[in-house]
Parts: sequence; structure tokens; C-alpha cells
Amino acid sequence: MQSSPLTVAIDGPSGSGKSSVSKAVARELGVGYLDTGAMYRALAWHCLEAGLDLTDQDAVAEAARDLPLEMPTDPDDQSLAVGGTDITSAIREPRVTEQVSAVATNLDVRAELRRRQREIIGAQREASGGIVAEGRDITTVVAPDAEHRILITASEEARLARRSTELHGGADAQQVAATRDQVVRRDQQDSTVSAFMEAADGVVTLDTSDLTFEEVVAAVLALVQGEVTPRHEADAPHTPDIDAP
Ligand code: C5P
Repeated sequence: MQSSPLTVAIDGPSGSGKSSVSKAVARELGVGYLDTGAMYRALAWHCLEAGLDLTDQDAVAEAARDLPLEMPTDPDDQSLAVGGTDITSAIREPRVTEQVSAVATNLDVRAELRRRQREIIGAQREASGGIVAEGRDITTVVAPDAEHRILITASEEARLARRSTELHGGADAQQVAATRDQVVRRDQQDSTVSAFMEAADGVVTLDTSDLTFEEVVAAVLALVQGEVTPRHEADAPHTPDIDAP
């Protein structure tokens, strides 16, 4: 439990590794964890199940407002249900990943999910002293006043290789090609409504292309625990893997 409430806001593109890193950081700090991407995925799943046309902006926005979603905040238990149906694995299926951007680019959907996200963040700050919240617009729109704001990036090559290994068990040319839509096309579509490829003012960029998972977790913890002074805050000595805008 933190002595004073703490929000760590983390954004990044697909395949940057932000979800696993955020979960590990939350666990280490003893605070909650919010995967906002899972909320967009849950809505996409729900709309697909209901047979809604995802381009019908009004119908999808209404579904967002009515969505009976219970979001988990325990980093060790991310089971997710909509109206009593467990959809923890269903939201990771390719049909959801391929179509989630269609609901996430609906501005009325974003307004509703951001409202829910802010509510969860506020409640967690009271309940467990803090939260690590990750997504595409957390540092900029959902929690711009977070105590720590970090953009986790990696080169396109590194992101494709990571996602390809996750999905297909390897990163040969064919496997990488099969992953491209889930990373590059999805980021392009998501970028039309959120800025997560470049850090906003005051947001620290952590380029993880050449770092191991453990190194990334350690770098985030060092930032949060004040062991590293990001370059934008002072004339800090050289911090090789951490770039500030
Ligand atoms: O992070 P993840 O891949 O699970 O996110 C799924 C989708 O949710 C993204 O492709 C994006 O369309 C949407 N998303 C968003 N804003 C966030 C988090 C996710 O638009 N804060």
C-alpha cells in the first residue's frame, strides 16, 4: 500500500510489451492494475455477439453505455465477465483483435469508457493506494494528472517480432507477415483517435527495443520510485535507455 495515492499512467503501441510490464509493476508496488484495452475488447466482443454492425456509431455507443462489464483490477487475476459470461480468453481471439479498432474509433464509445476508467482509477486510489493504468490515451486524456506518465515504445521490428512470437510461437518471415495486420494496421487505425506513438509534454519515453522484460520493469520501477531523474525534469546525467520529449 502506498503512503500517498499513486497513479502510474502507461501508454504505448501494440507489441510494446506495456501490458505485461504494467502488471508486473503493479504487483511490485502492491497497487491495482487496469488494462483499458481489455475494456475496448470486451465491448467489441459484446457487439459481435449481438450481431451489431460495428460501423453503426449510435448502436455501438448505446451498447457501450449499457455494457454490464465488471473490470478486474487485481494484477494476478484478470478474469473478465460481461453479464456473467466469462470472456477472459474470448477477447484475445483474432476476430476481436481485428475489429476492436472499429469500436475504439467511435468517439461516443471513448467518452463512455474513459468515464468508467476514471471511476476505476479513483476508486483504486482510495482502496489500494494506487493503480497502474495502461492503454493508448491514459497519459494524455484519461489521467493526464497522474503522478507518473510513461510511454513505452519499441521499434516496429521489435514489436512485430514480439507479437509474432506470442501469436505464432516464432518470428520467421511468414509468421511476422501474418502478424502485421494486428500490429501495424491496428496502430494506424488507433492513431486516428489517440496519440501514442510520440510522448506528450511531460511524458517520459522508454524505448524497450533492446531491453529484456526484467530490464523494462526495473526501469519503470526506478522512475516511479524516483531513482532515475528523467532528462526533461532536470539537467540529469546521461540515462541511456530513457528519452524524454
Ligand atoms: O492494448 P490492446 O491491444 O488490448 O488494445 C485493444 C484495442 O483497444 C486497441 O487496438 C485500441 O483500438 C483500443 N484501445 C484504445 N484506447 C486505450 C486502450 C485500447 O483505443 N486506452
